[in-house]
Amino acid sequence: MLLFTIHYPLFTAMSCLFCKIVAGEIPVNRLYEDEQTLAFPDINPQAPTHILVIPKNHLASHAHATQDDTAVLGQLLHTAGEVARAQNLTNGYRLVLNTGPDGGQTVDHLHIHILGGRQMHWPPG
Ligand code: 5GP
Ligand code: ZN
Repeated sequence: MLLFTIHYPLFTAMSCLFCKIVAGEIPVNRLYEDEQTLAFPDINPQAPTHILVIPKNHLASHAHATQDDTAVLGQLLHTAGEVARAQNLTNGYRLVLNTGPDGGQTVDHLHIHILGGRQMHWPPG
């Protein structure tokens, strides 16, 4: 049990799709990266521009974030702005942060969707 507890974060990172992308085990077009964050195109785009911004360290969801994560949460929003500028989304864009089952989250590693290049609608589905 003690062994499991100690190794659990490592196990999570090894089995997590987005951790594998961070590690370079699954190749993606790394559009932007810094010490804490990485941006790459979504494999199933829902808009002409659809990019994911993720923390490099595993964080399961927005609901799992604590006070210790405020710096990376801020950096994720900053990265999203840098990427939107680099992609020339001058007419606007939408940031989406699906969280948990009701939020429609399918990959349990926190990510911000940047959606742009078309008119978004409200309310979302
Ligand atoms: P969620 O539904 O959790 O908010 O978003 C997960 C996103 O990850 C989806 O939009 C999905 O298309 C994307 N995705 C899933 N697997 C991969 C992958 O292997 N590579 C990339 N680039 N995106 C992925
Ligand atoms: Zn992960």
